[in-house]
Amino acid sequence: MIINVKDIPITGKEYELDLDEETLDLDMTLLAPVHFTGTLYRSGQDVRIQGHLTTEVENYCHRCLELTVLHVDTDFEVFYKPKPTGAAAAEEEVPIEELGVLYYRDSTIDLCETARDTIILEIPMKVLCQEGCRGLCPFCGANLNKNGCDCACQKQETGNPFKEFFEKHGT
Ligand SMILES: [Zn+2]
Ligand SMILES: [Zn+2]
Repeated sequence: MIINVKDIPITGKEYELDLDEETLDLDMTLLAPVHFTGTLYRSGQDVRIQGHLTTEVENYCHRCLELTVLHVDTDFEVFYKPKPTGAAAAEEEVPIEELGVLYYRDSTIDLCETARDTIILEIPMKVLCQEGCRGLCPFCGANLNKNGCDCACQKQETGNPFKEFFEKHGT
């Protein structure tokens, strides 16, 4: 959804939209459409968006590689400024406190992109299916959250080969 910056009132205007995976062009599977509500405020050429976003994303657990569902339900706030052009762009030095500011081009803001960026920011680098996921057995690859494996018994009888190795060779 493309918003013309000049159409945004200073007093704010609320937008509400539902976006699907195709519109967002995300590199992940969405199990629920993205529900986006946001109020856009304009001050001169600067725009502030305060909003809320919910969706469900399918992802692989970083430890056990099982598919897991990530619920995204977040408040967000972003700031937009017009992208500097020409000589201004070359001279522009971005102050530290403005690093969180995004630029818009052609006097328009695409709310799909805002939603997309928000989702990407919300997905942790290492998704876990549960806190304390036990991961995969390093010997046979079994998912230790489920039934464990025979390696565990062997480890108790014969000891952990890695542990013996480190005891012999020092850590
Ligand atoms: Zn897991
Ligand atoms: Zn095992």
